[in-house]
Amino acid sequence: MPILMYHELGEVPHRLYVGLSEWEAHLDFLAREGYTTITLAQLYRHMTSGEPLPEKPVVITFDDSYASFYEHAFPRLRERGFVATLFVITDLVNHPRHVTWEQLREMAAAGIEIGAHSATHPNLREVDAGRLEQEVAGSRRALEEQLGMPILFFSYPGGSYDEKVLAAVKAAGYLGAVTVASGAATPEDDPFQWPRVTVYRGTTPEKLQALIDAALARSGG
Ligand SMILES: [Zn+2]
Repeated sequence: MPILMYHELGEVPHRLYVGLSEWEAHLDFLAREGYTTITLAQLYRHMTSGEPLPEKPVVITFDDSYASFYEHAFPRLRERGFVATLFVITDLVNHPRHVTWEQLREMAAAGIEIGAHSATHPNLREVDAGRLEQEVAGSRRALEEQLGMPILFFSYPGGSYDEKVLAAVKAAGYLGAVTVASGAATPEDDPFQWPRVTVYRGTTPEKLQALIDAALARSGG
């Protein structure tokens, strides 16, 4: 099960900024090839209780909750009937270049899955126990309070975690978490360590297909 990872959309010559037309080409490619976007909640239910999934399922995730997700990604997803998962840095909500609570409520109501990406995006391996709780459980509490819905998934800032961080994420009540390790998620994976497929600027649809195929091959899928 490929979980695609994006960060920012826009015309900035940085590898984590995927160009808008480039990204639209990814969406059109996925639609053309018969992929169906699903949420991590669907993936989780499939892996834990065998809930059937559509053919060629794919999860689209965005980390860091930039305003560009609301401005550019959300309308293009909606046009195509696609869903995606947005991982939010809760202390940055309502800050310049980041989404607002109002936008998050609108997107959640429209079927965008909202996950937590900590409160301030620190390296979670380097913070003390109190701060770890605040970053992991606190960001979940903030989202649940503001959005009035359960927040079920977490994305490790910078992909950084260890046993202590894993324990904190489980204790906070999440059902699973995504990393930046490369691969496709399989039922054998720990749901708190689902790998993803990082998509960089300059990725053509053909390259995207190759990335997905490589991830599936590595995961034996
Ligand atoms: Zn991040």
